[in-house]
Amino acid sequence: MLAPAAEALGVRFAVLAETADSPAAQVIHDVVVGDYTDFATLKAFAETVDVLTFDHEHVPPEHLEALVAAGHAVRPGPQALIFAQDKILMRRRMDELGLPNPRWAEITSTADAEAFAAEVGYPFIAKTPRGGYDGKGVRVITDSAEVADWLSDVPVLLAEEKVDFTRELAVMVGRSPMGQTAVWPVVETWQQDGVCKEAIAPAPGLPEEKARAITEAVLTVAGALDVTGVMAMEMFETPEGFLINEFAMRPHNTGHWTQDGSVTSQFEQHLRAVLDLPLGSPEAREDVSVMVNILGAEHEDLYRPYLHVMAHDPAVKVHLYGKGVRPGRKVGHVNAYGSDRELVLARARHAADFIAGVDPNPHPEMPAPAGVPATAPARSGAADPDERA
Ligand code: ADP
Repeated sequence: MLAPAAEALGVRFAVLAETADSPAAQVIHDVVVGDYTDFATLKAFAETVDVLTFDHEHVPPEHLEALVAAGHAVRPGPQALIFAQDKILMRRRMDELGLPNPRWAEITSTADAEAFAAEVGYPFIAKTPRGGYDGKGVRVITDSAEVADWLSDVPVLLAEEKVDFTRELAVMVGRSPMGQTAVWPVVETWQQDGVCKEAIAPAPGLPEEKARAITEAVLTVAGALDVTGVMAMEMFETPEGFLINEFAMRPHNTGHWTQDGSVTSQFEQHLRAVLDLPLGSPEAREDVSVMVNILGAEHEDLYRPYLHVMAHDPAVKVHLYGKGVRPGRKVGHVNAYGSDRELVLARARHAADFIAGVDPNPHPEMPAPAGVPATAPARSGAADPDERA
């Protein structure tokens, strides 16, 4: 999704892809297939570009350090990226910066787990410090014995109090090497089984002072860590304020709404930031933008429902990733926007779930979107599950 932005900016864009059929390799012609965990491969790729950046956090930090030492421009740099890679280092750094953390501890034994439970009670949350994503590597602990097995695989776990949040929020910032920053509106996010399912921009009903405190916090982090590129800060909202959950230093799922709902998409901003170009406006184009993920269900062929969705609501934007469908896998997302939040949400949910095949019945009560010509006889036959066979 960075590729169209690179093209529009007139930037040559190359990718080191894991496999020849990976989503990025399908749409970028300048592709090297190779293993990003192999230093020689990374180094050879780095020789061919001016700036290196990432679409995930899993490049080994020691390789990034070695690339920087060899004079390559790595953005974000390893000194920043490490706080998105290692959740224990991140918690420690947030404490140092005086930013709101849940209560946490490092645990290396069941005795540590018991001591932490004595402080925060059961259940608490345990996480692998490195390598987790989409809730993998996160467990709810109801008894200290549950960490024993886990600790035989990993030397240390991050324990956190189970936050009784009212909802989850996220905010994204872009920051360039010269220190220019731009923050998008705070969004509300909803996770299903640890996987982001929806984002609503701006977060409905978020008091202005909370939005301001969140914006200040994300700017503090971006500056203190010398972040370059875009960064997402995920949070738990509580009645008193907010607590930081984690960071991603790359375009992020909670920022996909910006593709259609903001003057500058997170993908364009990431490129502008890592190239030290002046940043674009993060302003919302619409009163409300909603992103709903298309999570794979049992239907592998998304083509028929995708036709239906386009015809039914010509104003929703469908983004597909060219990935094979597996249950629960993020295979695309839908963006919808407008002024009536409930209607925008209903349209985006219907489109995403219909494409996935989760909800074979179009919402019959759903009014036609405002300003959109009623073109297709979309609802007829759409309830027929054989349509997508
Ligand atoms: P990942 O890195 O896999 O995305 P997260 O740390 O974001 O993992 O956790 C995934 C989800 O688990 C969060 O979005 C949230 O819903 C829940 N979660 C994580 N930490 C806590 C916590 N301390 N208290 C309550 N819920 C949590």
